[in-house]
Amino acid sequence: MATFKAIRIEKADKGQTVALADFDENELMDGDVTVAVEWSTLNYKDGLALTGKAPVVRRFPMIPGIDFVGTVEKSTNPDWKEGDRVILNGWGTGETHLGAYAQKSRVKGEWLVPLPIGMTGREAMAVGTAGYTAMLSLLALEKHGITPKAGPALVTGAAGGVGSVAIALLAKAGFHVIASTGRVSEGDYLKKLGAAEIIDRAELSAPGRPLGKERWACAVDSVGSQTLANVLSQTKYGGAVAACGLAGGMDLPSSVAPFILRGVALLGIDSVMAPQALRREAWRRLATDLDWSRLQSMVTEIGLDQVIGAGSDILDGKVRGRVVVKI
Ligand code: NDP
Repeated sequence: MATFKAIRIEKADKGQTVALADFDENELMDGDVTVAVEWSTLNYKDGLALTGKAPVVRRFPMIPGIDFVGTVEKSTNPDWKEGDRVILNGWGTGETHLGAYAQKSRVKGEWLVPLPIGMTGREAMAVGTAGYTAMLSLLALEKHGITPKAGPALVTGAAGGVGSVAIALLAKAGFHVIASTGRVSEGDYLKKLGAAEIIDRAELSAPGRPLGKERWACAVDSVGSQTLANVLSQTKYGGAVAACGLAGGMDLPSSVAPFILRGVALLGIDSVMAPQALRREAWRRLATDLDWSRLQSMVTEIGLDQVIGAGSDILDGKVRGRVVVKI
């Protein structure tokens, strides 16, 4: 019986159990491409799955992990052949389909994108879903016609994964980036990534007026809730906000004032089911637009045996930037 190492989540009488274990290859789910996984990463959603704090896992047993880079081992899909280097983000892996914290994965070929030429597997996972979501946010703002000439760009949840990459991408695109963080002690880190100004997230977390002073032309918001409401109310006339996260809560206690009095647009960002063409566009841009010399300070590396503890850390807001997992 062939086995491989994986993080395994089982349902228990109360909640779930999670452990590094041997997984039987026969338990792999349907798919036309089998991948030898080399690198994965840690996202907020992985933290929710690993701890069971939100019902992210929809079948048991489950291997969590929503992102991987690996090499195709076997394929009956005409688009992929043995030896191809591939990236997977989302599509329900780690939720409904066995995921990335494993030496092996079997998935649908249509979920995969090629690892961009010139990007290493470790770099791609330093980007991961968080960074690819930051790029989807930038693409959405660009498609809305927002340019650096319109004014500053705000990033909330700045020291987190989405936030860190969003700062680097917006700065590279020429924006004056304002970083909103609860960890003002990370000011130097945020400035190295490209932030021009740092604000305390407390400024945005208390209930505010329906319309405030116009402070930024656009924003990438990974926090949601009251923060997103305040971000909208302080967005300049004709500006746009890419809403991609809920680290501060799922609700949106806002009014229609920014939309109907300032023509502000709220752009929804989903990485999980994003169509192939958009994914490929995002990864192409990530390969050209990220300055790796700036991003080194963003990356921490752990092994598969450290993933369970790291899952709690990310929910406790203790993780800075991005964590890559060497499988
Ligand atoms: P991280 O935990 O790395 O970052 C989240 C950051 O949000 C924290 O670092 C912290 O930043 C800030 N934050 C945390 N709690 C609060 C709070 N209560 N109030 C205000 N700010 C808070 O997570 P990721 O960057 O991986 O993900 C960020 C969000 O984006 C998550 O909600 C995640 O689910 C979502 N997401 C959505 C995707 C999509 O497809 N739409 C894809 C990927 C992620 P600081 O310390 O700087 O204040």
